Amino acid sequence: MRIKQFFLLLAAGVIVLHSLPVNAQVSHDADSVTIRKLYNEALQNGKTDSNLRYLTSRIGARISGSPQAQQTIDWAMRTMGQYHPDSIYLQPVMVPHWVRGAKETSYFTSKGRKVTMDVVALGGSIGTNGILMAPVVEVTSWAALAALTDDQVRGRFVFFNRPMDPTEIETFKAYLAVVDQRTQGAIAASKKGAVGALVRSLTLAKDDHPHTGAMSYDTAVKKVPAAALSTNSADKLSEALRKDPALRYSLRMNCIQLPDVLSYNVIAELKGSVHPNEYVTVGAHIDTWDLSEGASDDGVGIVQVMEVLRLFKATGIQPERTIRMILYMNEESGAHGAIKYAQQASLKAEKHVAVIESDAGGFAPRGFRIETSAAGMAQFQQWRTLFMPYKADDIQLQQRGVDLVPMKGQAKALISLDTDDSRLFYIHHSAIDTYDKVNPREVLMGAAAMAAMVVLISRYGL
Ligand SMILES: [Zn+2]
Repeated sequence: MRIKQFFLLLAAGVIVLHSLPVNAQVSHDADSVTIRKLYNEALQNGKTDSNLRYLTSRIGARISGSPQAQQTIDWAMRTMGQYHPDSIYLQPVMVPHWVRGAKETSYFTSKGRKVTMDVVALGGSIGTNGILMAPVVEVTSWAALAALTDDQVRGRFVFFNRPMDPTEIETFKAYLAVVDQRTQGAIAASKKGAVGALVRSLTLAKDDHPHTGAMSYDTAVKKVPAAALSTNSADKLSEALRKDPALRYSLRMNCIQLPDVLSYNVIAELKGSVHPNEYVTVGAHIDTWDLSEGASDDGVGIVQVMEVLRLFKATGIQPERTIRMILYMNEESGAHGAIKYAQQASLKAEKHVAVIESDAGGFAPRGFRIETSAAGMAQFQQWRTLFMPYKADDIQLQQRGVDLVPMKGQAKALISLDTDDSRLFYIHHSAIDTYDKVNPREVLMGAAAMAAMVVLISRYGL
């Protein structure tokens, strides 16, 4: 092996074992055995599939503030309670309660032709108060919107038709590159006098399923309704606008924001045997949007978090630091649960080593996306070889999990389980985020990968 080749392999983590001192190598071997035990238990006796089936078929959609969200809390208490954590409790939090109401109707008329559109209200949008009919102006970038005069926008819908980039290999990056038209579109459109915002669904699919998601208002700007169009509808509208820029668009949405509701995070604890006052959390979010049973977003995360608890108990592995399994309420529309958790942790001056979240769907795990210091990253890279046998060794620096952000500055590492994200954005926030899209074995592999990461952090700290 040439010197250069040796260092390349070393850098890639392929021969990292040989570079470790003898005692580190011994513990590396011990860690391998522990991790194998976790995977074996998950793959032989895992409960993620039966739990996910219950959640999706018996409870279903569980948007913040809904009775189903409360049912999920009750079920999570029962289910995790059966795995005998050292303690399990609820953390109260007030959450928004938005209701879609009767199904939206939408169409455009052009040259005597009426074309029906597949549309859903964006989460948090105001309704249209009857039928809202207006012409449309299409933009595919912020610069294009900025270049329009107020006269060109006033009294119209702004149609944000910027697609996700299909050539971006990391589809999460493609999503992040365009999500601002959904979150900020209504504000930007209203500032120029628009009557509403129509947003191309954030998906790589060409189909008839509109994808909802959070949008925001600015108190200084008039609220206007905002809706997502399926990609097929967006393409039809764009095509029709080219031929008839004066076409009329009609939208009826019946959604309404109700008063905030008292809800809860669910937290189960396993006490650390050596450093009980240092915490590693592993979490997922309870709430979904209202269009589907939220199997991937984030039902899978919920049952994986439950499984991490079960794996520790079933294998008898004692964590050195305290582990908290956290099911957050309200990730989708404000992350109020995660914010509450971070506030309480700060008030109690709790020392958090790392916070982990699974929120990337029921697909094959590939590794982790981590926000941490250079020293922290060096440590994670040393652990890479331990994840290689399980194909979960793709460890990269990147911030991702919405529920992790409030712990920034309080935890040394924010860690998101990463999956084969090629598939996630076909179903994300749409009516087809269902149980049948989830592969049971891949969910178990993800749960075991998180348990393995928790073991290492709880053993060595960061
Ligand atoms: Zn999610």
